[in-house]
Amino acid sequence: MKKVVLYILIIGLVYACGTSKRLITIKNVPIIASLDLINIKNDKVEVSINPGAFVANNVSFKIPMTVPGTYSSDNYGKYIQDFIALDYEGKVLKVDKTDQNTWLVPEGKKLDRITYWVNDTYDTENEEVEPVFSPAGTNISEGKNFILNLHGFVGYFEGFKEIPYTILIHKPADLVGVTTLPLEPNRKPDPLWDGYVANRYFEVIDNPILYAKPNKEVFQIKDIRVTLGVYSPNGVYAASDLRERMEEMMIAQKAFLGDVDSTKEYAILLYLSDLDKSDAAGFGALEHHTSAVVVLPEALPKERLEQAMVDVVSHEFFHIVTPLTIHSKEIQFFDFNNPKMSKHLWMYEGTTEYFANLFQIQQGLIKESEFYKRIMDKVANAKSFDDTMSFTRMSANILDEPYEDNYANVYEKGALINMALDILIREKSEGERGVLWLMKELSKKYGKDTPFEDDMLIDEIVAMTYPEVGVFFNKHVIGNQPIDYSEYFAKVGLAMIQEDIQTGYFLDDQTAFIDVNEEEGNNVFVRDNMNLNSFFINLGLQGGDVFRTFNGEEVTLETMRQIVTRSYAWSPDTKVKIEVIRNEQIIRLEGVVGLPTLKMDKIIAVEAVSADFANLRNAWLKE
Ligand SMILES: [Zn+2]
Repeated sequence: MKKVVLYILIIGLVYACGTSKRLITIKNVPIIASLDLINIKNDKVEVSINPGAFVANNVSFKIPMTVPGTYSSDNYGKYIQDFIALDYEGKVLKVDKTDQNTWLVPEGKKLDRITYWVNDTYDTENEEVEPVFSPAGTNISEGKNFILNLHGFVGYFEGFKEIPYTILIHKPADLVGVTTLPLEPNRKPDPLWDGYVANRYFEVIDNPILYAKPNKEVFQIKDIRVTLGVYSPNGVYAASDLRERMEEMMIAQKAFLGDVDSTKEYAILLYLSDLDKSDAAGFGALEHHTSAVVVLPEALPKERLEQAMVDVVSHEFFHIVTPLTIHSKEIQFFDFNNPKMSKHLWMYEGTTEYFANLFQIQQGLIKESEFYKRIMDKVANAKSFDDTMSFTRMSANILDEPYEDNYANVYEKGALINMALDILIREKSEGERGVLWLMKELSKKYGKDTPFEDDMLIDEIVAMTYPEVGVFFNKHVIGNQPIDYSEYFAKVGLAMIQEDIQTGYFLDDQTAFIDVNEEEGNNVFVRDNMNLNSFFINLGLQGGDVFRTFNGEEVTLETMRQIVTRSYAWSPDTKVKIEVIRNEQIIRLEGVVGLPTLKMDKIIAVEAVSADFANLRNAWLKE
């Protein structure tokens, strides 16, 4: 009996690895993607993609043009080279490249597998006009580090995004992967091979992998297991150096969120970049359902690195609420190569950024004065964007100008919209409810796999809250009316006052009043759309003025550097003569430099407000 069984088994095996390959169609078998991190050539990684058999011709293979959370068109296909399609006999098939991110195999029925070489994005950041934001990018540093944002390495076959993937990584024995991508079950441990599985293409790109020498910490925050993986090129930081602040912060985040359903596992992949080399320069992070990729300079001193990590990682972690839990169909069924944008960046980024600040005051990580300063910094930063641009319209068109240029306002005005909304809902509910309550209600109704209708969300929020909330959205989020923040501060017994703050003449650590136009021969000009200090105002300088001469000396980037250095030694009665070009005319200005001060808005608590105002403020900040 045994023999027979064996005999059938052998027949079966022969059948499976022989000609039957064609019988296992693409829909019935995972796509196997292999990345070779050992045999690097010219800083490139070879990838092979092996799908089941196709039953029709004209097979299109695509690498994403964009991925969720980046809100930019990055065309990851441009980092792919030497694309080859092979048939079952190992012969090369004809391939047509139909756009930057698409390869078409006309004889699709013959297609066995494809191979190509991938260039990383970190090395080319300096050469690109609009480089890929580093946390969404890729790094190939032979024998040392790999940032596998897998959308840069692994593509999908059009029409087959829902097929499972097996991802095999051939890797140096001394490098380990940190990721939330599940390991392939039943795979024998092998120091040179890691196997991972993903249920669909979205999961491939939603779970980046950091490969580096072992440098990680694992800790438990209630029911979440957190892994912090670090790559520090010069060995400056160990994961253990950063663990304490991360742990303290995430405990506070969990306490703030309360019973919001969240992930059981979370990974923070931190890449520290070497500023002395051509390295990643887009600092910040990109969110995923169960992890975040963070890129920051290794040169930051510990205290500043920790604070940057607290601000950045807390923001990414709050993305678990939105868009990862609460999102529209546009995001649920994300089209990587022709995406439809949702109207609700005020929520996806704005609410997230607002929470990343609010939880710090509510949980006692920062003082009230620091919270107010952060709010006023956002008010000041929002001034450099178009305050009359409809937020919903901007969001739906964020990949196009002039909307794209205003994208960063989602972190400034986007957060302020949520602050005003929070105060409004608190006022109407006598302190009982706020934006966090609203998000909890929405997350009960929707969820990771239950998207909302993009056009219905605001009506739904109004139905859940108050008619005044509808008026607010119509005026300030859908409409183009700027928000008068002092109106909202007054509801919680706060007022905005102006204060004179001493600054440098041309710049200080927070702001620069001048800038350089690299496209126009390094012209030095006065920055536009910002509050200028008294030195500029009293001399009659205006935003947009281009410096021509300073005390008779021609102004170039070089001489301007010297003038800025000399300005630190000026006294208030130092006299200067300046020529600027304004509207193609030369304007001559002169006078004493004075003591440079800047009018800054500041939030203060109004003395002797009624208990109602004070209670509402407490409900807002101390709940
Ligand atoms: Zn974000």
